[in-house]
Amino acid sequence: MAEKSAVTRQDHDRTILPVYAPAQFIPVKGKGSRVWDQQGNEYVDFAAGIAVTALGHCHPALVKALHEQGETLWHLSNVFTNEPALRLAQKLIDATFADRVFFANSGAEANEAAFKLARYYAAHRHSPYKSKIIAFHNAFHGRTFFTVTVGGQPKYSDGFGPKPADIVHVPFNDLDAVKAVIDDHTCAIVVEPVQGEGGVTPATQEFMQGLRELCDKHQALLVLDEVQSGMGRSGKLFSYMHYGVKPDIITTAKALGGGFPVSAMLATEEVASVMEPGKHGSTYGGNPLACAVAGAALDIINTPEVLSGVTERREKFIQALEAINEEFGLFKAVRGQGLLIGAELADTYKNRAGDFLKAAAESGLMILVAGPNVIRFAPSLVIEFADISEGMERFKQAIRKVVA
Ligand SMILES: *Cc1c(COP(=O)(O)O)cnc(C)c1O
Repeated sequence: MAEKSAVTRQDHDRTILPVYAPAQFIPVKGKGSRVWDQQGNEYVDFAAGIAVTALGHCHPALVKALHEQGETLWHLSNVFTNEPALRLAQKLIDATFADRVFFANSGAEANEAAFKLARYYAAHRHSPYKSKIIAFHNAFHGRTFFTVTVGGQPKYSDGFGPKPADIVHVPFNDLDAVKAVIDDHTCAIVVEPVQGEGGVTPATQEFMQGLRELCDKHQALLVLDEVQSGMGRSGKLFSYMHYGVKPDIITTAKALGGGFPVSAMLATEEVASVMEPGKHGSTYGGNPLACAVAGAALDIINTPEVLSGVTERREKFIQALEAINEEFGLFKAVRGQGLLIGAELADTYKNRAGDFLKAAAESGLMILVAGPNVIRFAPSLVIEFADISEGMERFKQAIRKVVA
C-alpha cells in the first residue's frame, strides 16, 4: 500500500479555497463523543460536526451498514431506483406527516428542492404570479444562491450579482410582521422551527400555529427547514412534532446520515403531485451507500430510548450551564430545544463567543458558536453522561482562561 503523505494545518491555507478558518489542530480519529488530533490530544465533542454525528463518531451500527452496502452496491444514479433508498423513504413516510420523499446530498439541496417545489406548486395550482416567499431575519437555509437568498443574512447573500426575486424577510417570532406582508401572491412561508445558525432560538407555539393559519388563509405552503432541528435533536424525531402543527414540506439533512452526506425533502401527496419526471433531480440523490447509513441511523434515533435520552441529557446540560453561570455570570439566557442548546453571552462578553470556542479547544473541548454572542452545544444524542461531566469541567477551565 502506498504511504500516505504527511499533511499539516498550513497546507489548508495553501490548498483550500479560503472560505473557512478551521481550528489550528487536525482531528484524525473519533469514537463516540471523543476525538483525537494529529498530536494525540483528546477532545470531548459537544459539536458533533455541527449537529451531524447524532450517534457519535463511528457508531458500530452505522459502520456496519456502510461496510455491508460498500461491499454490495455503491451507486446507480436515478436512472435506476435502489433498495436502501426505497426502504429509507418508507421509514420517513411512516414516521412523519409526509407521503413523498426527494433525496439529495446536503441541507441546501433539500431546501433548494423545497423552494422550487413550493414555487412550482403555486404556479401550477394557482397562478404564475403566486411566487412570494416569506422568510425570516437571521434565518439560514444553505449556500446555493436560492437558499442563501431565502436565508436572511446579507453577509452571506450579497456580492454575487442579482438574486432570485420576490423573497421578503421579516423578524422571527413576530406574527404581526408576517401578517403585514402575506397576501394571495405568497406561495410559501419558510421557517426553521429552531433558528440554528441565527442564535439557537425556538419558534414560539403561538408563532408556529399562527403561521399555519396564515398559510391556510392565503393558500400558501408551510415549509419547515428541519436540517438542524430534525432527526431527534429536539427530543422528538422532528421539531414540528412539539407544536402540533402539520407542515406541507420539511427538509432534513445534517443528522440524517449521522455523518454521511445525505438529505431529504418530505412533502404531502397533494404538493408532490405537481411534479413530473425531469422537473428536478440529482445524480447522487438517493445514493445506496448514503441511504443504507441513514436507514441504520433512523432505526436507532427513532426509538423511545434515544428520544427520551435527549431530554435527559438536555437537563444535564442545562444544570451544568446554570451552575457555570452562578459561578461566572457568563450568560444572559440559555435556550434551545433538546440537544440544540444556545447560551447567549452577557453584555460584558459581547462579541466574544469565538474566544470561548478557541479556549475550549485548548482545554480539550469542541463547542460551536451561533453568531458572535451565542455559544452553541449540539452533541451526539447518545453522548455518555460521563462525557458531559468531563466536557463541562473542561469548559470551566476554558472560561477561567477567558475571564481571567
Ligand atoms: C446547516 C443548515 C443548512 C445547510 O445545510 P448544508 O448541508 O450545509 O447545505 C440549511 N438549513 C439549516 C437550518 C441548517 O442548519
